[in-house]
Parts: sequence; C-alpha cells; structure tokens
Amino acid sequence: MDVVLPGEIARFKVWPAGKHRSPCYWMVRVFKTRGHMRRAFHKLDISHDKDDRFAAIVMPQERQKLVRGRWRSASPNLGYVLFARTYVCAEVLCHESVHMATNYLRRIGKLRLHQKHDKGEETLAYHTGWCGRQLNNGFHKFKCWREI
Ligand SMILES: [Zn+2]
Repeated sequence: MDVVLPGEIARFKVWPAGKHRSPCYWMVRVFKTRGHMRRAFHKLDISHDKDDRFAAIVMPQERQKLVRGRWRSASPNLGYVLFARTYVCAEVLCHESVHMATNYLRRIGKLRLHQKHDKGEETLAYHTGWCGRQLNNGFHKFKCWREI
C-alpha cells in the first residue's frame, strides 16, 4: 500500500475492461490542488519527465517478471492516474479516459492503431474531452442524467 501523499484527498481503482473481465486496473489518485498533484507526479514518475503543463495525467507503470524465458506483467496494476480536484470535470475525465483505454489496449495487444502514444492519440483525447464536456453540460441543462 502506497503512502498517502501530501494533498491527496481520494484514491480508487478503475478497471478499463470492467472489474469482472480483467484484473488490470488503474490507481486513480486525486489531489487538492494542481501543485499537490504535480509534486506527487514527480515523486511517482519513473520517466523523470520535466513537463509540468498538464492538469491531470495517466502514468503507465508496468512491473515485469521473467516467466519461462519470457517477460510478463507481474502485476495487474497498470499505473497511476492523477487528477487535481480543481480540474475534475467531464472534459478532463473524458480526455484521461482515452489515455487509460489506449494504454490498456496497447498493453494487452488489442489496439490496432499506433503502438506508441503519439500526437494522434492526444488529438483524439482532446476531441473526446470536448465532446464529453458538451454532452455533460447538455445532460445537466436538460436534466437527463440517470439517477444511480
Ligand atoms: Zn492527453
């Protein structure tokens, strides 16, 4: 169990294929502010990325082990997804969902697009976010949200 990082206000798992179809999950961590989230990013990051412009981020992290001469995933944990509470909205949620889904599909070999995160994926994520924001606003405006 990871320690609670400064400013962390929530933590939960998201299973990109559904909890009952695959054990693979993302660990979502939400922080009070963008500053707290960025400090957490630099603490958790294994790539030593210096880009600080993001408001949320998907951080794929795979642990592998050698099984009968082949490298295999050692854990169903796909990595971290960090959000700053001040940026939690339908647009950011949709954008990061694209990265969560594409990273997962690449890992299991089911994405037939590019095998690396590229500008195309980023464009898809932004447009999905913009559509998601407008759908969310329309559903709220016309009171269409289903009660759960
Ligand atoms: Zn993105």
